[in-house]
Amino acid sequence: MQQAETDILIAGGGMVGAALAVALKNTGLRIEVIEAVPPRSAGQPSYDDRSTALAWTSRRILETMGVWQQLASQAGPIEQVHVSQKGRLGITRLTAAEENLPALGYVVPNRALGQALMEALAGIPSITLTTPAKVMSVEHDANEVFAEIERDGARQRLRARLLVVADGARSSLRESLGIGVRHWDYAQTAIVCNVSTELSHGNTAYERFTREGPMALLPLDAERMTLVLVEANARAAEVLALDDEDFISHVQARFGDRLGRITRTGRRASYPLALITAEQQRAGRALILGNAAHSLHPIAGQGFNLSLRDVAVLAEVIAANADDPGRGGALDEYIAWRRRDQRNVAAFTDILNRLFGIPFETVAHARGLGLLAMDLLPGLRREFSRHAMGRAGRLPKLARGLQP
Ligand SMILES: Cc1cc2nc3c(=O)[nH]c(=O)nc-3n(C[C@H](O)[C@H](O)[C@H](O)COP(=O)(O)OP(=O)(O)OC[C@H]3O[C@@H](n4cnc5c(N)ncnc54)[C@H](O)[C@@H]3O)c2cc1C
Repeated sequence: MQQAETDILIAGGGMVGAALAVALKNTGLRIEVIEAVPPRSAGQPSYDDRSTALAWTSRRILETMGVWQQLASQAGPIEQVHVSQKGRLGITRLTAAEENLPALGYVVPNRALGQALMEALAGIPSITLTTPAKVMSVEHDANEVFAEIERDGARQRLRARLLVVADGARSSLRESLGIGVRHWDYAQTAIVCNVSTELSHGNTAYERFTREGPMALLPLDAERMTLVLVEANARAAEVLALDDEDFISHVQARFGDRLGRITRTGRRASYPLALITAEQQRAGRALILGNAAHSLHPIAGQGFNLSLRDVAVLAEVIAANADDPGRGGALDEYIAWRRRDQRNVAAFTDILNRLFGIPFETVAHARGLGLLAMDLLPGLRREFSRHAMGRAGRLPKLARGLQP
């Protein structure tokens, strides 16, 4: 079998693997990204029809990486977040003006994000993207990692000093490294599509909690919003099968008429929801990243934002250890730095979904009071929004406009 060699091997060129490669562009290290599904193909699981809400800090990180510049024209600003509960008192609003920022975050189509990342990768001579190709298995010893790669039916062995596994929530490589997971099935499905409404969204993102499950409407562009509608699994197939007119009535009944009538809906896609967190993030010289390390409930739009902060910190730690990027001490430093943010965000999204999912009247009232209290107490609201924007804790260089 043929054998090749690199410094860092990234298994998975989805949003997180590709972002890490770009973040490492100034380290002088040779980087090999292996991606199973070519970025522009229909079956690409990362760069699909969804849109992603990017927090303010994510914009900063992407800007320092030189990626935001390609994305900006397709990014819908979020100037306000409006959180409400159907049939209850209590609405809270977070505003960009309160934070002295032009926007709290942005909504970008995943395909545009993919294109911007791929363009950035193509311009960096030290990075090789190989696709379609699949990492079939990995092994490691004290000094190196070895991966078996399949491309065009042929197998090749690749040797590296660090392996980053970013192959998604159902990571097979995580398993082959012997890393277990904690898995909580929400028994919910997210139905995602774009919709148009009679009234302008005014750059407001809506999060709404209802008995049937949470939902979000995000401002994508002047005409369209991205809908994330969470349904219990038992109902999801039925809702997916509705014709457009009935689907619009269903969504309208859940959302209310804050934006007037929903006038159009696009193609629907569905995603089963689970909280998956890896029991450990390192096995020798291999580190797991992105959804392979933590896959969250999407209702608060935190998964990629959290991973992008992981990417920024990892790039900084690798840059400081460029002589041996897979050194155990360096990887442990990354894990320790990221532990708090990862735990807080996983707990926050989980609690949000569970608390608002409980159908008892008393709890519903308490939730209403909670939202009301948040609206009345600016300190509490600002703390919430600092987390939502990814500005809590020690910020890595990329989030401060500096190269790692
Ligand atoms: C409905 C929904 C809405 C969301 N909205 C938001 C949001 O608004 N904001 C936010 O921050 N996050 C959001 N997220 C979360 C976000 O999508 C994830 O955090 C992100 O996709 C994780 O990226 P990843 O690269 O780790 O994994 P993935 O996107 O799953 O990519 C993994 C990549 O690895 C490749 N691969 C797999 N196996 C191999 C192999 N053996 N060899 C080579 N390549 C391989 C795959 O082809 C794929 O390209 C949402 C998630 C869902 C489901």
